[in-house]
Amino acid sequence: MTGQGTVMVSVLACDKCGAPMYPDMKRGGFCCLYCGNFRSFAATEEDFLPPVRFRHKPVEIVEGLLKLGHVAIEERAFAPPPEEARQDRLRPTLEKIRERDPAALEAIGDEASLTMSCPKCGKPLTSRLTDNIFTCPHCGQKFGSRDAVATGRFDTRLVIGKNRLGAYGTCLPFHLSREKAAKRLEALARRFPEDSDGLKHPAEGLAAAYVPISLADLCWKMKVRCERGVFEYYQECLDWAWPYSLAYDIYLLDEMAPWDYGELSVLKPAYLEGNVRLHVGENLGSWKARLPDWILWRKTPQRLRAAFGIERPEILWVSRTLREHKYALLLLPVYYLERRDGDRILRAMVNGQTGLAASLTIDGRGAETLRTVLPDGWPRLSAERTILSPPIPVRSVKSPFLHQRLPFGDALQAMPVRF
Ligand SMILES: [Zn+2]
Ligand SMILES: [Zn+2]
Repeated sequence: MTGQGTVMVSVLACDKCGAPMYPDMKRGGFCCLYCGNFRSFAATEEDFLPPVRFRHKPVEIVEGLLKLGHVAIEERAFAPPPEEARQDRLRPTLEKIRERDPAALEAIGDEASLTMSCPKCGKPLTSRLTDNIFTCPHCGQKFGSRDAVATGRFDTRLVIGKNRLGAYGTCLPFHLSREKAAKRLEALARRFPEDSDGLKHPAEGLAAAYVPISLADLCWKMKVRCERGVFEYYQECLDWAWPYSLAYDIYLLDEMAPWDYGELSVLKPAYLEGNVRLHVGENLGSWKARLPDWILWRKTPQRLRAAFGIERPEILWVSRTLREHKYALLLLPVYYLERRDGDRILRAMVNGQTGLAASLTIDGRGAETLRTVLPDGWPRLSAERTILSPPIPVRSVKSPFLHQRLPFGDALQAMPVRF
């Protein structure tokens, strides 16, 4: 054994059939895949946190018209991010993490390890001391630090962020292993060989992370000018992930939808496999309220081009509402890779729940290329998932706030004459 002190290790084996047991965050215990045996995790204070309460409010329909009173007031501050936020976004992710919590980054980077002979197959096995659960690479047997497995306690130095209390109680479980996530990035590189330079050997530097978000319904109405005229439309995104940290690229994170919130689980870090960066929500100040605008600003032209076949959409007027669900601060499982080559940045992310993968390349002049590859077969998602409605062309017809849905061609109005 290398490193300091002694570590007592438990073999995670089924007491009925002897097969390896796997931690299953969704079910809250260890499962035997061979005989179905189940053993609960230790009870921890996270078990007593209130569950997320969804508060969806469907659009009211009156005499066949949409009542859009919730998007009737102009959002005058709607604007792209200020230069300061743009510069901040492009800084190296590790630098941002170090700034937020140098002690956590040091603890996470601690390479002290223990080497032992696997009690099952006898071959040598090495694990980092910071990994609570680890696996023998030869026979697949899983092990855990005996104290962590028995009590559910874990090393809070590993949590990134200052405000560590009660902030990491709820999560979506990881379904993809790091190896599978790397395979998703290989699939992305095969699909887009012209941009695949930065994605060679994707397992190198690929980090698992739990990224904090707050769950909300985001609804908006916009007035848009394009080459064919002016129109209004309404759109909503239910169960939208409102970023609660700027350590990772918020636009790339937004591409990871849909998420399935039917799988919300209690997060018990002591039972996480391998090395997962655990972030808590951070104080974003006045930027917090602006993040939805920045994301809408970026995504809207592309969405409208795709939906209506127009070329040059220009946003004239926006009204939007954000309805946060209750107790809705939670952690999303992602794999993240960032590489830099001169002034070129490559960022790639894999949805740890579904396997959706995306990469974003940013060249020295700031031009960005987004690539995505869908999972090999979508997992079946529950009703409580991210749902983006199509943009619905509308026209206000009478009070109170009643709007008629129209085919796109009928919603177009002549361009106001410009002098
Ligand atoms: Zn068993
Ligand atoms: Zn072994």
